[in-house]
Amino acid sequence: MFNSVFGQNEIKNIIVNQIKNKKISCAYIFTGDDVIVKESFVIEFAKILNCEKSIYSCNNCISCKKIDKRIHPDLHFINFEKQSQIYEEDIKKQKTLKIRTIKYMQKKIFMKLYEGKYKIFIVDPAEKITNIAINMLLKIIEEPPKNVLIIFFTKNKELIPKTITSRLQTLFFKRLKFEDVFKWIALNYPSLNFDESRKIAKLSNGSLSIAKKIIYETFNNINNDFNILKKIFNEKIYISDIFELSKKMSINYDLECIDIMIYDAKKKFCGNFNKLIYILDLLIYSKKLLLKNVNPRIVFDSLLINLLDFNN
Ligand SMILES: [Zn+2]
Repeated sequence: MFNSVFGQNEIKNIIVNQIKNKKISCAYIFTGDDVIVKESFVIEFAKILNCEKSIYSCNNCISCKKIDKRIHPDLHFINFEKQSQIYEEDIKKQKTLKIRTIKYMQKKIFMKLYEGKYKIFIVDPAEKITNIAINMLLKIIEEPPKNVLIIFFTKNKELIPKTITSRLQTLFFKRLKFEDVFKWIALNYPSLNFDESRKIAKLSNGSLSIAKKIIYETFNNINNDFNILKKIFNEKIYISDIFELSKKMSINYDLECIDIMIYDAKKKFCGNFNKLIYILDLLIYSKKLLLKNVNPRIVFDSLLINLLDFNN
């Protein structure tokens, strides 16, 4: 079981034992900063619970295929994308998971199964659920209907209310080993050559999400707004530009934009150790602040001003 998931042996053992002993909980918290690893685990979990032909996942039945393609009607993603559909609003406007979204989820939870044996809900990011919506979820968790599995994704468990974390098992997804990232790249991006794959695996620091972003940015040659280091160190840039950039970055920011900057810094300043250390310190500190939910605008303002200062 879970052979398609890279690493995470401890978590695999825990869940496999629970499946074998029919002791699966109705909900879990999956923490860790690599969304790809967490999602691949839930997808496999959903396939095992719903497979039509095997007590594992056969990968061949209609259920397994639909779950793989994320089109199974009993697999639900409760996230900003879904919420933007429910509220008919731009996805960029979604900052918290609101009551109507959780009500939608509640309705789905108590409805009959469409065609599977288990209904699976992935709630992401769990730390952004509003307090009223949390209370609604608590009631569900206390008396869950049968055959429902809710997985809360978070990058920082500390930001979820204790009323939730104290009731659920938390599984921490560690960063992967170099070999695992390398294998994942080889499997998913067969057009990359051996050296490129090794280099990206090394720079990814054990995160498939970072590896994916590096591949995307490097090979699509994307010159987006998040190519910050290049902007600051190669272009003529003023303090007013900095505030504009910071504003753009803080709207719907993604923690991985810091990881990409770390990756860029390592590439750009590998010949200048002091510079590199200074910049890495700044970036890592900023990431810590973002993880603690400090206002992203303040974090990015300060980071970019410091970088600009350093360059001048
Ligand atoms: Zn199957």
